Amino acid sequence: MKFLDILYPKRCALCDCVVSGREHPVCLQCRDEVKPITGPRCLRCSKPIDSDEKEFCLDCERHEFSFDCGFAVFLYCGKIKASIARYKYGGRQEYGRFYGEMLNLFASSYVTSWKPEALIPVPVHAGKLSKRGYNQAKVLADVLGKIWDIPVDSRSMKRRKKTRAQKNLDPAERRRNLREAFTLVQEVRYKTAVLVDDIYTTGSTVDTLARLLKEHGVERVYFLTVCIGRGL
Ligand SMILES: [Zn+2]
Ligand SMILES: [Zn+2]
Repeated sequence: MKFLDILYPKRCALCDCVVSGREHPVCLQCRDEVKPITGPRCLRCSKPIDSDEKEFCLDCERHEFSFDCGFAVFLYCGKIKASIARYKYGGRQEYGRFYGEMLNLFASSYVTSWKPEALIPVPVHAGKLSKRGYNQAKVLADVLGKIWDIPVDSRSMKRRKKTRAQKNLDPAERRRNLREAFTLVQEVRYKTAVLVDDIYTTGSTVDTLARLLKEHGVERVYFLTVCIGRGL
């Protein structure tokens, strides 16, 4: 074992147990247990759906989203859920490499067909950024940008204020609340972009950003997330 490995042992990106170099980034047990989503998926948001005959999940049938479509690797539950919480709030910035590699493995064919000119991490508010020390979406976008050789634009969009807790608001208030939260601080020149985030739940954040980009001349906006909530 190397000296640095004793000070900073390598940890499984899913359950956080200490792993040997060979098992890194994910321990053998997690490799067995945690699988990417398989089976029929919503053609727009990629949520798993019950039937092959349906094209879209209920959310996407009900709402006209501004983004074109997107892809997520894992269902947001169990070990992934706990792992994402550590990645976001627990200082486990290094998980970003594993998540990025998973997206590369499962989403690169989408990215090849989308041909994005920029990857845009979903911005976090400056206050949160200084508390956490990093924006988990940007860490992920940087990993992907390097792998795919696509520029990462983390400067054009800002989260300008702390939003009220979304859960206490009705859908219309949520949308307004989110719309006020993001702003474009410089014009963008690209026509096709991919928003990058750790999780997609209702899609309202990605949708708000996609709408903002489209209002400023971006023609196609896609998203990539590590995980996604279950569809209806
Ligand atoms: Zn593990
Ligand atoms: Zn959907």
